Amino acid sequence: MTSPAFPPSRAAALDRLETFVPGAGQRYAVGRNADPGPGCQSAVSRLSPYLRHRVVTEAEVVGTVLAQHTFDAAEKFIQEVLWRTYWKGWLEMHPAAWSRFLDERDAHEATNAVAAAERGETGIEGFDDWARELVETGYLHNHARMWFASIWIFTLRLPWALGADFFLRHLIDADPASNTLSWRWVAGLQTAGKTYLATRDNISRYTGGRFAPRGLATQALPLTEALLPPARPIAPLPAQAPGTPALLLVTAEDMHPESLFDRQTRFVAAIVAADADLLWGAHARAFVRGAASDAATRVAHHFGCPAQVSAKLDAATIVAAARAIDVRQIVTAAAAVGPVADALAQLAPALAKEGIALATVRRRWDSAFWPHATRGFFAFKKQMPEKLQDLCCA
Ligand SMILES: Cc1cc2nc3c(=O)[nH]c(=O)nc-3n(C[C@H](O)[C@H](O)[C@H](O)COP(=O)(O)OP(=O)(O)OC[C@H]3O[C@@H](n4cnc5c(N)ncnc54)[C@H](O)[C@@H]3O)c2cc1C
Repeated sequence: MTSPAFPPSRAAALDRLETFVPGAGQRYAVGRNADPGPGCQSAVSRLSPYLRHRVVTEAEVVGTVLAQHTFDAAEKFIQEVLWRTYWKGWLEMHPAAWSRFLDERDAHEATNAVAAAERGETGIEGFDDWARELVETGYLHNHARMWFASIWIFTLRLPWALGADFFLRHLIDADPASNTLSWRWVAGLQTAGKTYLATRDNISRYTGGRFAPRGLATQALPLTEALLPPARPIAPLPAQAPGTPALLLVTAEDMHPESLFDRQTRFVAAIVAADADLLWGAHARAFVRGAASDAATRVAHHFGCPAQVSAKLDAATIVAAARAIDVRQIVTAAAAVGPVADALAQLAPALAKEGIALATVRRRWDSAFWPHATRGFFAFKKQMPEKLQDLCCA
């Protein structure tokens, strides 16, 4: 069932953006750390499921904010949007962090202690509430995600990969990069030696006194791991589709092709693949299912071609769709590291065998920022002002 808090349509995303933007300056900077609890008015945007699936794009969100605020006034919010971009770029260059997470998750048994933590039955104030809130709503405030991960790892001493998996299975914005790398950051794996310790005072202060858990770990010794392989360079990809008549393939990684491809692109038809097997949990699946119907309607109107929703992203489905309109070219947005990228990587050779080419197109936003995610966020964010001028305001 679709979460009533996140209607899966672009109109709902734009509404949310419009309501949020006046508060993207001072209100956000001052209030973003406070978590007043589910259903209460907070300073954050709650745009994450829409950004995660690119129902709205980062460029559009930042551009809308910059139309009402100076860069300096909205810097904090823009920085947070850029954290998402940073994590995506970093994982693109270090895909082993994702495969290592999957291996580590699969290597652990889900013990009774893990099951109790997931059900919110640890007796730890706040933690139990967040576990239930996550399962029920598919969303947690950023600070609650940090407290939860820290308590999971350092107080309960549970395997971090099972905590990250619990988040993936329930978050409506579940994202391989933001989730895995944030858990790694809390654990002290991402910025080697630097951990995040949740404290009773900090929780009490930023939950407005709703929670003040006792018995939390008082130190957070970093977890360790073998070095990851060196960064792989980001392969350059074109920013536009080839000129040949094509089938447009829309995936859950990028559901706004209208802002990616010229209106004149020769799309003969479109297929929007909402493949549940490539997502983790019920909230995200329901969201993508709804967003896929919405995308199909918009795409048909925008590009003037028929568009259908498919529950599968596999060779048989795509070949049949291409044959039905007699084209030998598929065009899709590039997917970042994760299951959709894996599915596209399998699709390309299977299509090639049928004489059908798959062209992937990368957004200028990703091509501009990702290669700079080589060191820490501090160095990365220095790129912001100049690149944003070009990407959002040109
Ligand atoms: C342990 C942990 C797991 C997380 N897992 C995910 C995840 O699976 N998917 C996900 O989208 N975010 C994840 N985040 C990041 C962040 O918590 C959410 O993006 C944010 O809470 C979404 O709420 P919002 O849209 O109101 O954010 P806002 O504060 O309004 O920020 C605007 C946008 O900026 C981006 N953003 C904000 N904070 C962060 C951040 N710390 N890291 C990366 N991007 C950020 C998001 O796209 C967000 O929608 C995680 C953070 C932690 C600590």
